[in-house]
Amino acid sequence: MTQRLKDKIALVTGASRGIGYQIAKQLAAEGAHVIALARTVGGLEELDDEIKSAGGSATLVPLDLTDGSGIDRLGGAIHERWGRLDVFVANAGMLGVLSPIGHIEAKTFALTMEVNVNATWRLIRSVDPLLRKSEAGRGIVMSSGAAHSAKAYWGLYAATKAACEALVRSWANETMNTPLRVNSVNPGATRTAMRKLAMPGEDPKTLPTAREVAAKIVPLAFSDVTETGKLFDVRQNRFLDYRDPA
Ligand code: NDP
Repeated sequence: MTQRLKDKIALVTGASRGIGYQIAKQLAAEGAHVIALARTVGGLEELDDEIKSAGGSATLVPLDLTDGSGIDRLGGAIHERWGRLDVFVANAGMLGVLSPIGHIEAKTFALTMEVNVNATWRLIRSVDPLLRKSEAGRGIVMSSGAAHSAKAYWGLYAATKAACEALVRSWANETMNTPLRVNSVNPGATRTAMRKLAMPGEDPKTLPTAREVAAKIVPLAFSDVTETGKLFDVRQNRFLDYRDPA
C-alpha cells in the first residue's frame, strides 16, 4: 500500500479511545509519526502497541487539556524535536451535561468550555507556527451537528462546538495564502463512549463504528486537500459550504 503520510508528523488529541484512537491508528498506518495525547495512559499504551505491531511509530503525551501551560510546552517540545508539524487533529472533547440552560452548574459550564473551546484555541496558538513550517500543514477540528441543530438541552455542548467552528473559519481566513488548510468535521452519531453518555437508551449497533468514521476523516490530512474553512460532513462524505444549510 502506498503510504500517503510517509514521514509526516501528526498530533491527535483525545487519542486514548473512540474516534481519536482510530484516527491516530489510521494516520500511523499511512506512515505518519503520531503524537497521541489524552489523560488515560492505558488507552494511549494500547494505541502505541497497535501502531507498533503494524510497523508504525508514536509518541505518547499524557496531558489533561485543562493544563494550558502544558499545551504551550507541547508546542515547544514538538518544535525542538521535529521543527514542524504536518497534521493537527483537535479531536478531544467532552459532552458536559444535557440540561436546560438555566440548570447547568457553573463549574460544569466552565470545565466544558475549558476542554472543548479554550484548549482548542490554545492548541491552535501553540501549533500554528509549526503547521506553517510544513509543506502541506493540515488542521482538523472536531465539531458536531449539535453546533447547528439548536436542540433543547444540548446548549452547552452546542455552544462549544459552534465556538470551535468559528475559530477554524477565522484561522482559515488568516492562513488562506499559505499551504495550510484547516477544516471542521461533523463526524455524525458514532458508536463511542461519549455517544453512549448522551443517548444511553440507543442501540450502539445502529451506529457506525469509530473506525468507519475515522476512515472518512483521515483523507483531510492528505496534501491534495484544497478546501479550507469548511465543515466536512462525514455522513454526506463531503465539505459543506457555510452558505449550505448543515
Ligand atoms: P470519547 O468520549 O470516546 O473520547 C473523547 C476523547 O477525548 C478521549 O480520548 C479522552 O481522553 C479525550 N479527552 C476528554 N477530556 C480530556 C481532557 N481534559 N484532556 C485530554 N483529553 C481529554 O468521544 P468520541 O470519540 O465520541 O468523540 C471525539 C470527538 O468527536 C469529540 O470532540 C466529540 O465532541 C465529537 N463528536 C462525537 C460524536 C459521537 O457521536 N461520538 C458526534 C459528534 C461529534 P481521556 O479521557 O483519556 O483524557
